[in-house]
Amino acid sequence: MKETDYKTYIDEDELPQAYYNVRADMITAAGGHDHAPILHPGTLQAVSVADMEPIFCTELAKQELNTKDRFIDIPGELIDFYRMYRPSPLVRARFLERLLKTPARIYYKYEGNNTSGSHKLNSAIAQGYYAKEQGLRGLTTETGAGQWGTAMAMAAAYFELELEVFMVKVSYEQKPHRKTIMQTFGASVVPSPSNTTEVGRKMLDEFPDSSGSLGTAISEAVERALSTEGYRYVLGSVLNQVLLHQSIIGLETKIAMEKIDEYPDIVIGCAGGGSNLGGLMAPFIEDRLAGRQSPYFIAVESASCPSLTRGRFAYDFCDTGQVTPLAKMYTLGSGFIPSANHAGGLRYHGMSPILSQLYHDGFLDEARAVDQISVFDAALQFARTEGTLPAPESSHAIRVAIDEAIKCRESGEEKVILFGCTGNGYFDLTAFEQYLNGTMTDSIPTDEDLARGFASIPSLEGIQ
Ligand SMILES: *Cc1c(COP(=O)(O)O)cnc(C)c1O
Repeated sequence: MKETDYKTYIDEDELPQAYYNVRADMITAAGGHDHAPILHPGTLQAVSVADMEPIFCTELAKQELNTKDRFIDIPGELIDFYRMYRPSPLVRARFLERLLKTPARIYYKYEGNNTSGSHKLNSAIAQGYYAKEQGLRGLTTETGAGQWGTAMAMAAAYFELELEVFMVKVSYEQKPHRKTIMQTFGASVVPSPSNTTEVGRKMLDEFPDSSGSLGTAISEAVERALSTEGYRYVLGSVLNQVLLHQSIIGLETKIAMEKIDEYPDIVIGCAGGGSNLGGLMAPFIEDRLAGRQSPYFIAVESASCPSLTRGRFAYDFCDTGQVTPLAKMYTLGSGFIPSANHAGGLRYHGMSPILSQLYHDGFLDEARAVDQISVFDAALQFARTEGTLPAPESSHAIRVAIDEAIKCRESGEEKVILFGCTGNGYFDLTAFEQYLNGTMTDSIPTDEDLARGFASIPSLEGIQ
């Protein structure tokens, strides 16, 4: 890399041809373990592909339970789609480095360069592909901030599938343009909780003014998929299949870094359900599990929704309506609903079972919770130097990248810092406006708030 180089490109024909399945290596690594089995909520037995088939596409259910294949080929038609917007750039944040006067070299992988505005399209298009292959008619899903719904709407349009999106009501009201984008791609969008499902009606009876939560929207989407012929449900984070598809982020990053003879000392990602961090980490955790390299991994979460830093490692439902299978993960309880003040995304109550296990086993080294004002401080520093308006979610990773770069300035260490810049912030300008006009507040749950969430974790005698 020359002193003046900014971006590192890989060629289209160097795009990864297979996804990396970290579970195969977690099982065999010294000190590693697979995550605890996903349990059927009725029988409390480990789920099988047959159990999952009524909800998920068959091929995706197989991926969900695959612990054997280290690599899973990416079908040619998917690679063709990826070529429309990938490889995504790996950028050396030279202007941010200069502002911080740090000897660290900071790199970020930027996933905001597609219409959905985030990395979510990487998995949406894969899930759409397998649904089409199976001959399905349509899909249902939920969306919080709207990025996943948009990505899935793009994928459904491309594969000519119907799509119904349950959108968390507070976002539906605060982000009308997100709804319009999804409709532009042909999706139908329902604010959740809605009176179109049993779960939604029950929620509205109990809490008529509910602003909604991801957990409730998931329950509604699952219920709709189960009750509609030719439909299945898709999810944009948390699941193993999603981390698998997102491995394309890290695989591309590693190819690009090899070209400039760099290797990260620190890998940082924001963590909502864990998919972008799991994806960015993929080839580096592969090295770590094999004992070849020891990059330091940091998950950054929102102090408003601190599942890794303050949650319990326990079996819990993935949704508020408690209709989904049980996963062992770091969780705040499916009944936890973050404060409506919180504008920065990353609002899910649980965390990917894979990342949870890696954290529990010490391979994911650290989780850090950051508050939203400090996150927006970092977002502005980044926007004003690097010229990219980051998503609030991504800005959690930026916050910690800046903090680590400042530590390097103080210690004189020339570390290589890599972080995931997962999306752009064009649809989050209301939050930026609140920050700029001083009306943004931090909303960190008290121990009592957390206790209420923990009370919703099932006791599962003999299992927990
Ligand atoms: C959804 C989203 C996230 C968080 O989800 P993960 O599954 O944790 O990656 C982060 N950044 C952006 C831009 C998102 O849309």
